[in-house]
Order: sequence, then C-alpha cells, then structure tokens
Amino acid sequence: MEHLETTKNHAIVISGKEIAAAMREEFKREVERLRAEGIVPGLAVILVGDDPASHSYVKGKEKGANEVGIYSVVHRLPAETSQEELLAMIRTLNEDPAIHGILVQLPLPKHIDEEAVIFAIDPDKDVDGFHPINVGKMQIGTECFLPCTPHGVIHMLKRTGISIEGTHAVVVGRSNIVGKPMAQLLLNENATVTVCHSRTRDLSAITKQADLLIAAVGRPGIITKDMVKPGAVVIDVGVNRVDGKLVGDCDFAGVQEVASYITPVPGGVGPMTITMLLYNTIESAKRWAKKRG
Ligand code: NAP
Repeated sequence: MEHLETTKNHAIVISGKEIAAAMREEFKREVERLRAEGIVPGLAVILVGDDPASHSYVKGKEKGANEVGIYSVVHRLPAETSQEELLAMIRTLNEDPAIHGILVQLPLPKHIDEEAVIFAIDPDKDVDGFHPINVGKMQIGTECFLPCTPHGVIHMLKRTGISIEGTHAVVVGRSNIVGKPMAQLLLNENATVTVCHSRTRDLSAITKQADLLIAAVGRPGIITKDMVKPGAVVIDVGVNRVDGKLVGDCDFAGVQEVASYITPVPGGVGPMTITMLLYNTIESAKRWAKKRG
C-alpha cells in the first residue's frame, strides 16, 4: 500500500499518481506482449485551436502513450478548421487499421458542433467513451469503453481496497463527462447513489449522508469539513487554478480532518484519467485483434 500516506487523526491520502504509475508499468509489459504478436495499439488525438490547457492535456496524453509503447499521432489543427474538415479527418481515422483509439480534445471552437463530432467517431474506437452507443452500453452494464475520469476513480477505489458495494455514494456534479457517468459506474458497482447539482437544495444535508463523496463541480473549496460525514471517503475530481496554484473542490486541510480517505489535487484523480485512456486504447487493440482472429 505504498500509494497511501497518513498522518495521525487525518484521512489517508490516496496517491493517484502512484497508482497510475503502477498501472502504466503493467501496461508497458502488456504492450510489449502485444507487439511481440504483431499488434501495435494506436491512438490518434485531434486538437483544434490554441487553448493552452487543451495543449497541455494533449501533451500529457501523447507522453503517456509513448511511455507505454502505444503508437500515437497528434493532429494539431488551426482554430479556423471547419467542421467538415474535422469530420473528414475522423472518417479517415475510423478507417485506419493502425488506429484503435480516436480522441478529439474538448472543448472545440464555438463554430464546431461537439455533438456532431462525438457522434462521428466509430464507437469501436471511441476511447473517451462519449459516443451515445458507449454511454448506452455503460448504462446497461455491457462491455464498452468507459469514460476515463470516472473509470479512473473506480480503479483508484478498488486498488486502495475501498469497498463500494452497499455504500451511500453522493456525486456532486452531473456533467456528461464526469458526474453522470460517475453515478452510473457507482450504481453498476452496487452503491446507492445520489446525484447533486447546482439546483440541489441544502447540498450539505445530502453530502453529510455520504459514505463515499465525489466532488466534480469545478469550484474551489465548495466541499468543506462540516459537509463531510466522519470517516467518509472523499474523492476530489475538481481542478481549479487559484493564484496560479492547482486546487480541487474540497477544502483539503479541513476535510482531511474528518474523512477516512481523501484524494489530493494535483496527484489524485488527474493522473488516473490519462491512465484509463491508455487502458481503453490497449483494450481496443485487443478487441480488434480478437475480431481479426
Ligand atoms: P461542468 O461540466 O462545469 O459541470 C459542473 C457540475 O457541477 C454541473 O453539473 C453543475 O450543476 C454542478 N454545480 C455547479 N455549481 C454547483 C453548486 N454550487 N452546487 C452543486 N453543484 C454545482 O464540469 P465537469 O466537466 O464535470 O468538471 C468538473 C470538475 O472536474 C472541473 O473542475 C474539471 O476541471 C474537473 N475535471 C477533472 C478531470 C481530471 O482528470 N481530474 C477530468 C474532467 C474534469 P448543473 O448541471 O446544475 O449546472
């Protein structure tokens, strides 16, 4: 349990960074095995425009893929790229046998319809798990690509030995990429799930009932110590920049005094997200090889 760190009377800090590093070592060995069989997992990332945060996320994805031996290509397109040009590139990648995963970095420039882009990706290459086919399959609980951030949270909990089944899990946030799939995956793991959002009345009354509290809002310090049940497991998905520093949605120092486990920001959920993208790409290559026979 090297990824756990504790101080007296404080929550154990779950290091997503260390769990992610251990998983990536496993992926390296798996990709080596696949390459020996002539299967090279391939990931294509498309980035449109100049958003600095998106550029940095894409760099992390490219680096992560290269480190585990995944073949990766990044298409950096100018902000004025038309929707038709982007869709044409996706169609080409859908047909490319060297590519098993396609990811379009969001957000896209305003003149491009994000939904049309997500729908254009072959669901069998949708390693972000955002295509409605994969969203529907996740809901049914059948094999599919699971969205990377919530899937990463589930892996973190499992690898830390935290039991999900039977707990009351409260998810704060209901976006399509984090909150909603997080709730669904927790339900699939047999938690009793409550979802909160900006219209929730008396948020604190609900968060205080949580055995497992997931914060995915994007507001620094929205979860304070008095909102957390003593002994709860708190997962902080939020990433906020305050005075140039990255912080989560939880008042870390306060919440750490009452929770049993907590994830830090940075070094918590973030590193797990890219790790699950690599996982999905490797899985996709394995499925493709199985189909090929
Ligand atoms: P989002 O699309 O902006 O969704 C935020 C959610 O929070 C919405 O559902 C919103 O409710 C809810 N909310 C806003 N104010 C609230 C309040 N006062 N009380 C309760 N709920 C409130 O954001 P997102 O994409 O889900 O991301 C959430 C956070 O996670 C962000 O900080 C983002 O940077 C971070 N993130 C981290 C990773 C990672 O890898 N670590 C990955 C993705 C996202 P409504 O639906 O009612 O508006």
